[in-house]
Amino acid sequence: MAAPVMEIDLHVHTTASDGTMSPAEVVRYAKEKGLRTIAITDHDTIEGIAEGLQEGRKLGLEVIPGVEVSVDFAKGTMHLLGYYIDYTSAELLEKLAIVQRARAERNLKIIEKLRGLGIDIDLSEIKEAPEHGQIGRPHFAYALVQKGYVQNIQDAFERYLRKGGPAYAEKFKFSPQEAMSVIHKAGGVTVLAHPFTLNQLQLHDLEPVIVELKENGLDGIETYYPEHSEGQTKFYRHLAQKYGLAITGGSDFHGFNKDKEDLGEGYGNGECSHTLVDELQARKEARLRGL
Ligand code: AMP
Ligand code: ZN
Ligand code: FE
Ligand code: FE
Repeated sequence: MAAPVMEIDLHVHTTASDGTMSPAEVVRYAKEKGLRTIAITDHDTIEGIAEGLQEGRKLGLEVIPGVEVSVDFAKGTMHLLGYYIDYTSAELLEKLAIVQRARAERNLKIIEKLRGLGIDIDLSEIKEAPEHGQIGRPHFAYALVQKGYVQNIQDAFERYLRKGGPAYAEKFKFSPQEAMSVIHKAGGVTVLAHPFTLNQLQLHDLEPVIVELKENGLDGIETYYPEHSEGQTKFYRHLAQKYGLAITGGSDFHGFNKDKEDLGEGYGNGECSHTLVDELQARKEARLRGL
């Protein structure tokens, strides 16, 4: 039986970062699949938004301008999603340019590390990958597959690119506070993406992290996500309710490069409805009134 498709998918990548579909293609695909709303949330860039919004208007599909920012968190991986951002905000663009430069520097470090491991890949080969936006580890993974060094993308991460792996390189990241402040100043709201990647599995570990983020302006928790177990989903929903945070959900769709969930699938069941978007939008408006 085909997996149910949700009304909303608030976590979607395009060719502006490491997705394989252009923003217009993603919007058309969402329309075909019967979704009502998607948010475009590329890594560290808003380059895909204008095209996505335009296609959304054309097809009558709601597209929320978003972004996904990697932030500093020693104990695990923390990504913050920004929604309803003014993607023309000069300050936002300036801050994103900083992390984009950090990515470019890291790419060179990864290439050096791969060379040290006897793998000869240069940047021009990475840019020939089917995506041309912000380059990230999935682009390297793709090149490793293409050149026959590994069987598949997963293998590339496990053997080389995972955090702490032999070809992994760190890059500068904003603190969660700085990233949330930038998103708020650009008129947006902030959501903690896929909380399981924080590696804070117990309530007494995760709760203080959420409390601190909330004190610094967190607006929501991405509760519905393909890799969250039923238990985790309940746990994150409980924390969102306890601290008056919005609940969101999405597939983290990257196109068909990765062995991952399809657009609109794999999270939330019937609970991931458009009501969540209405609530998120109400929070955005409340923040704007408060400014
Ligand atoms: P970067 O922002 O360059 O560090 O790359 C992060 C991207 O790599 C995210 O989109 C992840 O989904 C992807 N990623 C991280 N770990 C894995 C993995 N084990 N397999 C496939 N993709 C991964
Ligand atoms: Zn990605
Ligand atoms: Fe992420
Ligand atoms: Fe993502």
